[in-house]
Amino acid sequence: MSSQPITTAWPYEVLYRFLTIVGATVDVIPQSTAVLPERHAAVCRGCDASYTYAVGVSHDLKKWAQAHSETCRALPRPTA
Ligand SMILES: [Zn+2]
Repeated sequence: MSSQPITTAWPYEVLYRFLTIVGATVDVIPQSTAVLPERHAAVCRGCDASYTYAVGVSHDLKKWAQAHSETCRALPRPTA
């Protein structure tokens, strides 16, 4: 697998981004709700798997994103 620099801008809400082995990303983003205004989520853009944490960005949230990005082989849906 070749590595390429990420040259496109991230969506503004993305706090952390993990690259999967097939080129999709796992993004850590704020995902507030009325009850949990500080909730954050790690969302895989390949397979839509997600992990949420109620208050801020926890170590476990980033750990899940890292671990998922190392194993997920789902490709993101083409945008065009
Ligand atoms: Zn995935």
